[in-house]
Amino acid sequence: MKVLLLGKNGQVGWELQRSLATLGEVTALDRSVDGELCGDLADVSGLRATIQRVAPDIIVNAAAYTAVDKAESDKDLALLINATAVQAIAEEASKLGSWFVHYSTDYVFDGNGTAAWQECDDVSPVNYYGLTKLKGEQAIAASGCKHLIMRTSWVFGARGNNFAKTMLRLAADRTELNVIADQVGAPTGADLIADVTVVAIRKALVDPEVAGIYHLAADGFTSWHEYASLVIEQGQASGVPMQVQKVNPIPTTQFPTPARRPLNSRLNTEKLRETFSIHLPDWRSGVTRMLKEVLEK
Ligand code: NDP
Repeated sequence: MKVLLLGKNGQVGWELQRSLATLGEVTALDRSVDGELCGDLADVSGLRATIQRVAPDIIVNAAAYTAVDKAESDKDLALLINATAVQAIAEEASKLGSWFVHYSTDYVFDGNGTAAWQECDDVSPVNYYGLTKLKGEQAIAASGCKHLIMRTSWVFGARGNNFAKTMLRLAADRTELNVIADQVGAPTGADLIADVTVVAIRKALVDPEVAGIYHLAADGFTSWHEYASLVIEQGQASGVPMQVQKVNPIPTTQFPTPARRPLNSRLNTEKLRETFSIHLPDWRSGVTRMLKEVLEK
């Protein structure tokens, strides 16, 4: 089994390097050119040639333009990476008969209401990043390739930058923090995403009927404020020196950003759990484990 992994050094890509290794021979690329192989999604013809050269049975794309606010002003590049390149990968996968595994986001939804979003719900992104990710999904479906698209949310990993690490850094320097309390979602570990990906691929290889879109997030929901409070509490319990005395809950309206964010990022994961017989752990267990890894360094 030949696997091509794109975006090997992102939060999810890093964990996929570990989990995909049990499937077969993995060619793992980042954006740099590696001999005759090009993993730069901005170089669409180089990417197509690389896929043809490697001729993988499975392509896993963990690369993405993930700078949500920057995407509002850097539209061409965000679209190129998240949609045009994804379309090229899907078309090459279709020609080869390969599986294409790709990641998308809760930001394809507008965030209205309080119900957890199902895969079949109407999409309506409120920011440009979400729109580009949606276009990527649509291009995959249009290509006719065998695919698994995992929509996930609020990703964290011990490696890479994420919200939890930002909170630890800010809590070390400031006495008071204001954190958004009216956006709700599930912090989801890159390690969990990588492990679930392999379970899903194994099933897809024997049962291609499972192809499609899935929601993949840790169990339970929280707000950024509750998430930050847990991170800081655990940091303090681990003896990390911190200035912070108060973590104030604020509404999204008090924290304007270039990109709008959906308020309700709850993802309904029933389809994933039923199809692949997967148990999804509570978000707190993954965050606690990641913090131990980060704080004990
Ligand atoms: P990261 O930002 O950690 O990693 C993205 C990776 O993509 C980086 O390694 C980056 O490389 C790489 N990349 C960017 N541009 C290019 C390019 N032109 N060519 C090749 N590689 C490139 O993202 P995550 O691991 O967190 O995200 C994985 C997936 O999950 C993505 O599809 C994302 O949209 C989705 N997702 C993420 C969420 C989150 O909270 N992070 C939430 C919901 C969905 P470099 O380091 O060199 O820039």
